[in-house]
Amino acid sequence: MTVEHRELFIGGEWTAPATTGRITLTSPSTEEAVGSVPEAVEADVDAAVAAARRAFDDPQGWASWDNARRAAALRSLADELERRTDDIARLVSLQNGMPIQLSPLLEGGFPVRIYRWYADLVERQAVEEERPRARGGATLVRREPVGVVGAIVPWNYPQGLAAFKLAPALAAGCTVVLKPSPETLLDTYLFAEAVAASGLPAGVVSIVPGGRETGAYLVAHPDVDKIAFTGSTAAGRSIAETCGRLLRPVTLELGGKSAAIVLDDADLDLGRMGRDLFGATFMNNGQTCHLSTRILAPASRYAEVVDTFAQLASSLTVGDALDPATRIGPMVTAAHRDRVEGYIAKGRAEGARLVTGGGRPGHLERGWFVEPTVFADVDNRSAIAQEEIFGPVLAVIPYTDEDDAVRLADDSRYGLAGSVWTADPERGRAVARRLRTGTVGVNGYTPDIAAPFGGVKDSGLGRELGPEGLSAYQNLKSVY
Ligand code: NAD
Repeated sequence: MTVEHRELFIGGEWTAPATTGRITLTSPSTEEAVGSVPEAVEADVDAAVAAARRAFDDPQGWASWDNARRAAALRSLADELERRTDDIARLVSLQNGMPIQLSPLLEGGFPVRIYRWYADLVERQAVEEERPRARGGATLVRREPVGVVGAIVPWNYPQGLAAFKLAPALAAGCTVVLKPSPETLLDTYLFAEAVAASGLPAGVVSIVPGGRETGAYLVAHPDVDKIAFTGSTAAGRSIAETCGRLLRPVTLELGGKSAAIVLDDADLDLGRMGRDLFGATFMNNGQTCHLSTRILAPASRYAEVVDTFAQLASSLTVGDALDPATRIGPMVTAAHRDRVEGYIAKGRAEGARLVTGGGRPGHLERGWFVEPTVFADVDNRSAIAQEEIFGPVLAVIPYTDEDDAVRLADDSRYGLAGSVWTADPERGRAVARRLRTGTVGVNGYTPDIAAPFGGVKDSGLGRELGPEGLSAYQNLKSVY
């Protein structure tokens, strides 16, 4: 059965699209079409931005509501989403190949928690603060919403990454035009239903399904006040150029090629550590920006580390994303599968030692699958160690001592995440402090709603989540 949508969610209503163009959604597990939706073109983006502008500029509107009232509206949105989490999770897995073991939590429950967390945060936050002046008297410092936000997200965590942007933006009093990725659109219709049912005022959230051109048009739109983007470094650079020219604030969450530093005292027992090691290195079929895909192993335990990751990789059940037994689903598109396979070929050509995987699973006749793959004896300067593969492919690299491990971890154009594995968590924190990266996990890697998430170097600009994620949607005004 396929799902066909005929309308767009713009300005709080289901509206007819400006043209007849459509986007087809495909299951990467079966290669079959699973639905289609209208493609939003420039005229649709104009309508969405105009609705967002009207909603923002309305003197009695969303931006003027007090924080408690907006918090209540966000909680109502969270409740409506919660009613739909199973259906949303299923649609996400159907379209992007995320194992159904993960999607109810990561794409269902997690976004709901993010909306609730920002509702609580903004309710506690004072809009105005009286600051004593240096020479007596007081200055009023106000937090005001930045305005109309263009939010652009990728396909790998479509609901979670939208929530990273919409929850703080809405809490701050902004209005939002969301441009989801063309690979994952069916789930956004359930999100739109939740928005409609939650009673958010018309125009506060609109959705424009489309590709790169639709995104670029939104980024440059004269009535947009801020852009929040998650995706590739190449697209982020192009968006940053446009925003630079327009002096438009922008948050960029981009690619990564993070390192797992296995210290010489690490517990590598897969019975105890397997879940955490999997979460930090293979989660969502390797299609996760923060994964530690470079494994830095001490020379003294090198063979054991290679063996541990090879065992982990070969133990993972590969299959249809909707099968509850599946731990590794397909790559999102045929083109992306080809790209991942291209890197595997490059690894071999560069002289790395293929320890496990490297091919397509023999038991699956359809779907864009790649076997979980581990390379050993990898040179940190080689392509498979420096470039983001975005698939289930790990590179194990030897190091001599802790300084060497930190040097290798930082020898990357990226700086989004990383992990340190050790029997001594204090030692792990000490190594984590030294790394030039936005986030690090010790003996695991789980982002925290309350703490800022983001990257340095080519991994991006700015932070999402935490109170910092809210301030990214607030301008400060001083009244002397
Ligand atoms: P992508 O950059 O191709 O696309 C992401 C989104 O941006 C899509 O909606 C796309 O239509 C749109 N887009 C592409 N080019 C654009 C442009 N020039 N102007 C405006 N919009 C544009 O990325 P992808 O392949 O969909 O996603 C995978 C990438 O996302 C990986 O590099 C991954 O590391 C990154 N990612 C980063 C984070 C993070 O938080 N740092 C999280 C998840 C994914």
